[in-house]
Amino acid sequence: MVRYVYDFEDGGRDLAGLLGGKGANLAEMSRLGLPVPPGFIVTTEACRAFLAGGEEPEGLCADVSRHLSTLERAAGRLLGQPDDPLLVSVRSGARFSMPGMMETVLDVGLNDASVRGLAKVSGDERFAWDSYRRLVQMYGTTVMGVDQALFDEVMTRLKEARGTSDDLCLDAADLAWLVEAYKRLIHDRTHRDFPQSPAQQLREAILAVFRSWNAERARLYRRREHIPDELGTAVTVQRMVFGNLGHDSGSGVAFTRDPATGRPGLYGDYLPNAQGEDVVSGVRDAVPLAGLERLDPRSYRQLRAHARTLERHYRDLCDVEFTIERGTLWMLQTRVGKRTAEAAFTIACELVREGLVSSDEGLARVSGDGLARLMFPRFDASATGEALAHGVPASPGAAVGVAVFDRAQAVRRAATGEEVVLVREETTPDDLPGMVAAQAVLTGRGGKTSHAAVVARGMGKVCVCGARDIAVSAEARRFTARDGSVVEEGTVISVDGSTGDVFLGAVPLVASATMRYLESGEQADSVVSAVARALEHADAVRRLEVRANADTPEGAARARRFGAQGIGLCRTEHMFLGERRKLVEEMILARTDADRDRALAALLPLQRRDFTGILEAMDGLPVTIRLLDPPLHEFLPDRTDLAVRIAAAEAAGGQPDAHDVELLDAVSRMHEENPMLGLRGVRLGLVVPGLAAMQVRAIAEAVVERTRAGGSPRAEIMVPLVGAVEELRLAREEVTRVLAEVGEETGVPLPCPVGTMIELPRAALTAGRIAEEAEFFSFGTNDLTQTTWGFSRDDVEAAFFAAYLDKGVFAASPFETLDREGVGRLVRIAVEEGRAARPDLETGVCGEHGGDPESIRFFHDVGLDYVSCSPFRVPVARLEAGRAAL
Ligand code: ADP
Ligand code: MG
Ligand code: MG
Repeated sequence: MVRYVYDFEDGGRDLAGLLGGKGANLAEMSRLGLPVPPGFIVTTEACRAFLAGGEEPEGLCADVSRHLSTLERAAGRLLGQPDDPLLVSVRSGARFSMPGMMETVLDVGLNDASVRGLAKVSGDERFAWDSYRRLVQMYGTTVMGVDQALFDEVMTRLKEARGTSDDLCLDAADLAWLVEAYKRLIHDRTHRDFPQSPAQQLREAILAVFRSWNAERARLYRRREHIPDELGTAVTVQRMVFGNLGHDSGSGVAFTRDPATGRPGLYGDYLPNAQGEDVVSGVRDAVPLAGLERLDPRSYRQLRAHARTLERHYRDLCDVEFTIERGTLWMLQTRVGKRTAEAAFTIACELVREGLVSSDEGLARVSGDGLARLMFPRFDASATGEALAHGVPASPGAAVGVAVFDRAQAVRRAATGEEVVLVREETTPDDLPGMVAAQAVLTGRGGKTSHAAVVARGMGKVCVCGARDIAVSAEARRFTARDGSVVEEGTVISVDGSTGDVFLGAVPLVASATMRYLESGEQADSVVSAVARALEHADAVRRLEVRANADTPEGAARARRFGAQGIGLCRTEHMFLGERRKLVEEMILARTDADRDRALAALLPLQRRDFTGILEAMDGLPVTIRLLDPPLHEFLPDRTDLAVRIAAAEAAGGQPDAHDVELLDAVSRMHEENPMLGLRGVRLGLVVPGLAAMQVRAIAEAVVERTRAGGSPRAEIMVPLVGAVEELRLAREEVTRVLAEVGEETGVPLPCPVGTMIELPRAALTAGRIAEEAEFFSFGTNDLTQTTWGFSRDDVEAAFFAAYLDKGVFAASPFETLDREGVGRLVRIAVEEGRAARPDLETGVCGEHGGDPESIRFFHDVGLDYVSCSPFRVPVARLEAGRAAL
């Protein structure tokens, strides 16, 4: 018999998969002896069974009843008992936290009779009706599917009639009226009544929470966070405690450290006389925890002590939800808290220093994505004028975009490539698509723990919240700043999530402190020192080397400053552009060998100069130079343009330019339907006489020049797009011949290794043969992904990848994160068979995957010697290579 329900006593944080993070951590807290209202947890397994079968799995109902009885016995009263009701909350909670994305119903067990019982035993009639109206509303939306906005409207109208904007000014009679109005609303909309049976309420609420797993916003959130769709949510049923029992009650949220900066110290918001979501939803202004310290010092001290207990136990920043019921503190939730990249580095470094976690664990807690975020530019402080508004700096970074006031506008404008800033009075989970589309989020209300702040931090978006000096009107699509200036939709604003400032117009950007550190070694502040510690440790533990893809001396020098241990891919095609195009054109169009040789001879010194500069910048480190790869016609003018030009000249009655005619002829001759699968890579070298020889000579002469200048150049020659060992053998013969020639001419030894890219399935599958001719393999995972999947990258990404991601064909684009199952398998085969044939074969990757955290893990696992990525990704790759080795 499957067990669908667990008591808190039987759970713990190691059971998060089964009990959800929330349930597992509640169990953990109660086992730690913290004051947690008793309850039980319905497993994610039950949810999965329900969602798969469409009905309650067998045995669930009985399991729930049994645990409910235990809860009732302990409380000494029954769920919804008319004279003294036990009330419970029914809470969602999945393996991975999805803040606010699913549903929770509070105050389950109230009905027309028990509301009076509750009023009597509590001695507080207002409280009883306040709880009841909350239940009817939450139940009405979550279980019965009535639009939240309709309830809000009723509430707003009542407040207007009472001449107040504060729900605390509504008295018991008002709230009783509200309950009736809500019930009518539910009946009008659903033709069903709000159920009076507490047992039915409980059962329906549990099933509704299950269903909320598939709510649209929850799906969207999961897709963004790469959370699998099949996990399901657990449901926690827990005795209610009441923060809405008057002024010595309240509810709040806290972080054990500042989640924006990582600074130690309890941090959070508290709202007196409030229940549940009130504090994060911004219905009323919460006070900072210092306010609680004044209001109720005893509870505050306890909260601080519990926060310390949790932080020591979890050895990490935690966030908590708590409620104070008439001076008694209850802990309602904890989890390892989301934080900014800045805070992640600072906290990891601090915890290592405190001896709470090892250096390895500290490294595990930061990420390459976070580091990349810290490398983004900041606003130039000297260029900012007067701030238009100022709010809470809730998620750092600099963002410029046009102001938009609802999620639809955000999505629409972002889809056309505009950068947008979503401006809201406050955000709700429904705003998620808009937040995803925006560069930054700006709200008029709420603190560091508000919905906007929490979600933005989780997504790494810039966020300024609680900017009280702006008045946001979503209807009018504008906000008014304190100086009276009006910002209409479409106006460009700049949002600084690190200071909380908002500026009109686009503020110019400068390098961040982290970037300055990477460039110069200067450790300007504690965040940067934390980054430095993490990188040092990563360098100490990683097995993978990190090289860069660079094809200019400047790029090579920057990569080296960033810690690159060589160049894994030096493309030569960029060197054929600009004014050299003319020479390339001449080479391609040459009628005679002599013409071609002349063009090649003119290109030679230019190429040599390129290589000399790069070898100098990377002196002592390997530089892998790839022979020309792309189809030649990429260096010629566009066929249509030429045809149009010629036709226009003819139409005007004149003679078309002779050169144009000649070019068109050549371009037409070389036209390919499928250039990516055409005359390129090693095929070019084998078919166009003299081209490869010229490139190899340029490399060889550059090596000679650098050697004579006293340097230690380490050029490696790489042949692209090889599919068969014969191709490589022929190419290599030519390379060796030219190297020998130059060696003879100059008397300088040229020990340049020759290797190949593995970027065709055939190459991977015959790697054992290819290794006979290759001293190294470099996986070109971009082409290997294209050719393995049969995807033309430029065509498929825009056409249907979004649909594929939606339909779950893959969880991430295979061009961003290496497809382990298919492409990865080819890599594995090639490494194994290549090494079997040539034990000292060097292996690396030079596709864009070389800078992707997930993929780096794979390359570590499969045993490559290095990854190579763009210079700016080098620090990220160092960090992730270190994390992969833990
Ligand atoms: P979410 O996952 O959206 O945070 P929760 O399940 O945590 O949803 O609940 C929403 C709010 O209700 C939270 O503020 C929580 O603290 C409060 N809450 C949940 N259960 C109880 C309870 N038993 N007593 C009092 N408040 C509760
Ligand atoms: Mg919660
Ligand atoms: Mg390629």
